Amino acid sequence: MEEKQFKAESKRLLDLMINSIYTNKEIFLREIISNASDALDKRYYNSLTQKKENVKKEDLKINIIIDKENRKLIVEDNGCGMNKKELENNLGTIAKSGSLAFKEAQEKKEEVDIIGQFGVGFYSCFMVSKDVVVESKATNSEDAYRWHSKGVDGYTIEPTEKDTVGTKIILTLKDDTDDEPYSRYLETYVIKELVTKYSDYIRYPIMMDVPHEKLKEGSKDEYETVIENETLNSMVPLWKKKKSEITPQEYHSFYSAKFSDFQEPQKVIHTQAEGTFSYNALLFIPSHTPYDYYTKEFEKGLQLYSSGVLIMDKCEELLPDYYSFVKGLVDSPDLSLNISREMLQQDRQLKTLAKSIEKKINNELNKMLNDERDEYIKFFNNFGSQLKFGVYDNFGANKDTLKDLIMFYSSTEKKLVTLREYVARMKEEQKEIYYACGETVDKIDMLPQVEKVKDKGYEILYFTENVDEFVIQTLREYSEKKFTNVCTDSLDLDTEEEKAKLKEENESNKDMLETMKTALGDEVQVVRFTNKLKNHPVCLTSEGAISLEMEKVINAMPTDQNIKAQKVLEINASHPIANKLKELYEKDKELLNEYSKILYSQARLIEGMSVENPTEISNIICDILSK
Ligand code: ADP
Ligand code: MG
Repeated sequence: MEEKQFKAESKRLLDLMINSIYTNKEIFLREIISNASDALDKRYYNSLTQKKENVKKEDLKINIIIDKENRKLIVEDNGCGMNKKELENNLGTIAKSGSLAFKEAQEKKEEVDIIGQFGVGFYSCFMVSKDVVVESKATNSEDAYRWHSKGVDGYTIEPTEKDTVGTKIILTLKDDTDDEPYSRYLETYVIKELVTKYSDYIRYPIMMDVPHEKLKEGSKDEYETVIENETLNSMVPLWKKKKSEITPQEYHSFYSAKFSDFQEPQKVIHTQAEGTFSYNALLFIPSHTPYDYYTKEFEKGLQLYSSGVLIMDKCEELLPDYYSFVKGLVDSPDLSLNISREMLQQDRQLKTLAKSIEKKINNELNKMLNDERDEYIKFFNNFGSQLKFGVYDNFGANKDTLKDLIMFYSSTEKKLVTLREYVARMKEEQKEIYYACGETVDKIDMLPQVEKVKDKGYEILYFTENVDEFVIQTLREYSEKKFTNVCTDSLDLDTEEEKAKLKEENESNKDMLETMKTALGDEVQVVRFTNKLKNHPVCLTSEGAISLEMEKVINAMPTDQNIKAQKVLEINASHPIANKLKELYEKDKELLNEYSKILYSQARLIEGMSVENPTEISNIICDILSK
């Protein structure tokens, strides 16, 4: 007999399960049954594709046995089974979907409601059991093995006798406590209820011996207990049932068991398409962003069935990247069973299917945006960045599909708005769509240029995500309106008179501005007076293709690239500082140099950039303060 320790994370998860105060302990049965069903799927699929054994679909089943006397609940399947290595890998380590999410949450030290958030699969049986035995025999294997664990201390694996292929899970229930009468899981009616509640859609029969009181033969009042082996589930896959006959509860339960997410999905999209290419799709939009969503580890894809037989667990070809958050399955009688990944990639039917699914999702999102604004905002906060990536990904190939689904924060509405809404609200004389970039809404609000544009009564879209500017560059325009960054020089809001006045101001102070530029060296391209500002003395803008935001984004990337925007230091022509500078130019050029450096540093700070020579600046300020 080999004694083994659980891997560290598994141990933590087990510990949580054993000491769980989670109220919904009964879900353990659903998890065990769902694993059994997966194993039956696998065995059947392998038999069809590899032809090493001949399996009849009607022979595949799940058995539940109650052994009240010994406090044992047994769930048995004749699925693919596990060999010794698989027992060890699958049950001794966290490697699987839901459990992996747990591991990541744990790394982020978020222990909140862990069981509530993830499907934790097999280990959930430790919520109700003090002892767990798994006996298994894999397809085409002579040997059977017995895995045994009483919890965190570890597990043992040893050879055992088992006649049939498949897996038998033997749970010894915990002793009853005041709060938790674990014995209830030994009651026939409880198990029946749980199966109907959580596992009714399982496509294999879940069988159990059920006692019935029946009249004794030939007697009119004498009863006897007759045991009948009953199928507890209806076996109709949920997606094949009529929509009108499915409760939200059923959808939720199905989603949780299948996709290891214990939070209700935000949206269920259930379509039953008939025609030249018929299919059923049951799709879900999760109500939260998965922990690994914006990482490389995240894998998109839908389960693919052919007439109820699972042929692929994560078929990525069925979802475009920008809808990668969608979970669910597709079942079509028109797909061939014997399909390999390479074949799938060129499969025309599959492409048609994918197009059709994409359209469904797109319609659903548009509908949500129009009819359930709050729901859409919630969705957008979870997955909006992905839609934005979708706009610029692939050289903008999908921008038209997505441009009406993306949202930005609006300065006037103080909430997320769409481009369509923005354009509809534009003032008559307004030619362009105004936006401003920054880390947060608050920081953008403080940008001096923003203040002036707001003051003139124009709406500004706030770009707080790195991807936003790339989106705009891809879109180029919306409804024939170009985009203008209010912090760049292309902004033109002034009257002819104002323009002329500013021009004159800049020309007559040309030498002074030149002196200031020289004081700043290569840092800035130009120093000039501006009308852009209202109350603030200075701001920083850029000229040319690289904006200040892009400089920040690109320089934050882990490459050697170091890109600089061509910067312009702009000074508010109507701020008292303007006169002060002119005065210094006449009286004290030395001090004008120092003022220039301070003003430039201020402008950088306002832009959310760091000051490159903090000690020098700090010393200059102190010198001036002590004068
Ligand atoms: P998940 O189902 O999300 O993969 P689980 O914790 O529920 O995670 O199960 C872990 C793994 O153990 C499964 O992926 C499967 O490989 C294996 N397993 C569990 N139960 C069975 C079973 N009845 N038959 C065969 N393999 C099983
Ligand atoms: Mg599972």
